[in-house]
This record gives sequence, structure tokens and C-alpha cells, in this order.
Amino acid sequence: MLQNAFGDPSAADTDGNTNPASSGTSSSGGNDGGKPAGTQTDDDQPAATQTSAQSELQRFLHDNAASRTTIKKDGVAFVTNSTSTLVLVNKKRELDPGYVPGDLVKAPVPFSFSGDSPKQEMRKVAADALGKLFAGAKQDGIELKAVSGYRSYASQKSIFNAYAKTHGEEEANTFSAHPGQSEHQTGLAMDVSSASVHYGLEESYGETKEGKWLKAHAADYGFIIRFEQGKEKETGYMYEPWHVRYVGVYVAQDIKKLGLTLEAYLARF
Ligand SMILES: [Zn+2]
Repeated sequence: MLQNAFGDPSAADTDGNTNPASSGTSSSGGNDGGKPAGTQTDDDQPAATQTSAQSELQRFLHDNAASRTTIKKDGVAFVTNSTSTLVLVNKKRELDPGYVPGDLVKAPVPFSFSGDSPKQEMRKVAADALGKLFAGAKQDGIELKAVSGYRSYASQKSIFNAYAKTHGEEEANTFSAHPGQSEHQTGLAMDVSSASVHYGLEESYGETKEGKWLKAHAADYGFIIRFEQGKEKETGYMYEPWHVRYVGVYVAQDIKKLGLTLEAYLARF
């Protein structure tokens, strides 16, 4: 599978074209430096120096570009790549109400609550990666717990409606998603918290040692902090230091290195 190839940290080391100027930690060994800047617009050109893995990666990014992955129906833009690990879902790009990932599994991590719930589920590739992320945290003496993962269209709808009732629809939409516009429906997102904030989902989590560890290390396991501080205009949501989104190791490290939102990253290809 594509995401497996790109989830391999070693794949990032062979990359020299998307970040020719970078001296980031992840590409110290293998940057061949032979590519001009700005190759993201002509990634279909079979350059002789490109390895097949690189051109496959470029095609993957190209195919998942924000501009190529929606279709309008009755004035609403629906995403056409729901099953991709790079699917971009936000207030302007919706998932079909009927979309349910076909490979949901319970994530192999501790949860902040007891009992079985669909909230424990993620898509297989993301669940496996989350297991590794949590194991890595534990090794560093950091205790994380998973709070909320997969959410169906129907359950997002009831959550949003409840918030809209108490806060009004407009305010509710700054911190909660309309059904179809939640990344939790993709099965690629998990809310993570720790005892230090009583497993709450709050901004102060970003200041805890656990929140800082998560921000520093998520990309090494294929996750990004999806809603960063100061990027509210791009993402449409307030800062959420607890919400991690799986995109694969290569893309996560690239996004971190470039300091971009997923919106801005997928606009480049
Ligand atoms: Zn979330």
C-alpha cells in the first residue's frame, strides 16, 4: 500500500526534491540536492534522477491535492478521496453522510474511559501507528490516554446539535464540526490527553509536558497536530493541542518541517 511506503521513515531520507533547502533532522543523510525548487507543480515529469519511490510519492501527493479532490453536489463540496490517508476534511470539504471507513479497528492503546465504544476505533494503519506513538511516549516516561477517535456522521450530528443548543450554532462551529465536516469521521484522528489535565480536551494541554511531547514526536509516528495555534483562519478551528491526525510519516515530517497546516500543504501540489 502507498501509505505504508510513505509511512516508512527511510522513505523521507531519500527525498531531495520537495524541500531542497531543508536541513531538517529527518533528511540529514540522504538529501541528494539535485532537484530545483518548486518541483511540486510538474511532478508527473519522469525525471531520470528520480527513483521510482520518489515519483510514486509525487503522484500520491499530486492525486491528493486539495484542488483535485472535491466534487460539488447541490452547492456542497464533497471529498472524492475519502479513503486516502491524505483526505482533507474541513468546513469547506465534506465527507459523504454514508461514508464509514472499511477497516476500523480498536486502537491498541489505553483509553480515558472504560467500556467499549466506537470512539476507540481508528482505521487500521492509523491505529497501528497510534499504538507505536503511545509506546514511544511510555518509553520517555510520558503517559497518554486516548479520549475520542472514530465518530460516525450520526454521532457527530447529535454532538453538534447539542452544542448548538447551548452555545448557538455559530459559536458551536468554532470548536465543534458540522456532521460531514469532522475529521473524526475519517477514522484517521484521535483526541489524546493525560492525567495532568484530568483527561480533558483543553488548550492548556499544549503547555503540559505530555502535550509538549506529543507536539515534538507525533510526526515521527505519522501524525500531525491538526489544529495549530495561530492557524485558526486556515483550518477553521481553534487551537487543539490534543487532536492528532494520521497522514503517514513522510507527510507528517514534511508538514512539521515546513510549519504548514494540512490545508496549506495540500494546496502546494
Ligand atoms: Zn478531535
